Amino acid sequence: MTGLDELPLREDLRGQEPYGAPQLDVPFRLNTNENPYPPSASLVADIGRAAAAASTDLNRYPDREAWALRQDLATYLAKREGVHVDAAQVWAANGSNEVMHQLFLAFGGPGRTALGFAPTYSMYPEYCRDTFTAWVTAPRAPDFTLPPEVAREAVRRHQPTLVVVPSPNNPTGTSLAPETVLALLDATHDDGGVVVVDEAYAEFRRPGTPSALSLLADHPRLVVIRTMSKAFAMAGGRLGYLVGSTAVVDAVRIVRLPYHLSAVAQAVARTAIAHADELLASVDALREERDALVTWLRRRDFDVADSDANFVLFGRFADRHAVWERLLARGVLIRETGPDGWLRVSVGTPEEMAAFRRSLVAVLEEVGP
Ligand code: PMP
Repeated sequence: MTGLDELPLREDLRGQEPYGAPQLDVPFRLNTNENPYPPSASLVADIGRAAAAASTDLNRYPDREAWALRQDLATYLAKREGVHVDAAQVWAANGSNEVMHQLFLAFGGPGRTALGFAPTYSMYPEYCRDTFTAWVTAPRAPDFTLPPEVAREAVRRHQPTLVVVPSPNNPTGTSLAPETVLALLDATHDDGGVVVVDEAYAEFRRPGTPSALSLLADHPRLVVIRTMSKAFAMAGGRLGYLVGSTAVVDAVRIVRLPYHLSAVAQAVARTAIAHADELLASVDALREERDALVTWLRRRDFDVADSDANFVLFGRFADRHAVWERLLARGVLIRETGPDGWLRVSVGTPEEMAAFRRSLVAVLEEVGP
C-alpha cells in the first residue's frame, strides 16, 4: 500500500490536516453554527418533488450559469433586505466556502496578498494556501471590533488585492460598522483591491445593525457573501452566493469549474428559497435564545463577546480544553476556537441551551473557573 509520504504531494501540503470540526454523534451538537430546526415534512416533500423533476433531465448537464436560481436569489434579497440587484450581479456555488475559493482563485495568486483581521474565520488562510496567496492579519481591538483607522492602516501597510472580513465575524460574532467597510474601500482604492464582506450570519444580526448590501450600489469593488447554511437552515443543501458588480461575477466565472452546481442542487435551493418565510421563521427565536444566553453567561461573570450571529464566544478559562472535554463527556459538543481561553457555542433549541447551561455549571464545579 502506498502511504501519503510516497506520493508527490505538494511540499507545502505535507503534514497538513483536512479542515473540519469534529462530527460526533452526541445528543447536543453546538459546534458548527447550524440552525437546529430541520425542514418541515411538507418542505421535505416539496424538495423531493423538485429533485425528482430535475432528475428527468439528468442525462444533460445543468444550466452552468444557474440563471433561474440567481434570479430567485435576487428576488429574495429585494424582498428580505430591500436591496435591488440584477441576477447578473449574483453568483452561486456549493456553499459560500466554494464562492470564496473562487474569489481567491480569481483575485489572489502568487505575489498577491489577502488581508484579514484576527481572530477571524479559519478557512481564509486555507484559501490562501490553495491559491498561493500570502495571508496577513492585523489584530482587532480588545472587544473584537474593527475600528476604521485600524482597517485603513493595515491596508496601507500590506497593500492587499483581497480583503476578507466576516460580518458578523466568526468566531467572535462581531458586526462590522459601515464606516469600516467604507474605510477599507477607500484605502484599497489606489491598488484596486477587492473588499469581501462575508455575511454568512447576517440574518441573525441585532435590529439596527446595517448590512454591507446597502453599500453595493456605489462600490463595484465590494463583494457581499451570503449562504443558505445558517439562518436558512439548509447547511446540507450546500448553497452559498455572492452579490457584487457584474465585473466581479465575470471574474469568478472564469475560474469556476464547468457545471459546478448540479441540477439537483439548483432545484433544491430554488425550492428552499420559495419557502424562505418558513425556513427563516426560526431566526427570531434563535436571536432571543442568543441574547438570553449572553445575559446568562454575563451574570455568571464570564467574558462574553457581543454577538450578532447564532453563536457566542465566551471565556476565559485557564484550561479551555479541559472544559470542552468535560462538556463533551456530558454529550454537549461545542467548539474550541478563538483566542486562547475562549470557547464558542452555537445557539440551539431551548432544550439544547438548557442542557448546555446545566452541563457548564456542573463542569465548572469540577474544574473551577
Ligand atoms: N463564512 C463564515 C464566516 C463561516 O463561519 C462559514 C461556516 N462555518 C462559512 C463562511 C461557510 O459556510 P457555507 O460554505 O456552508 O456557506
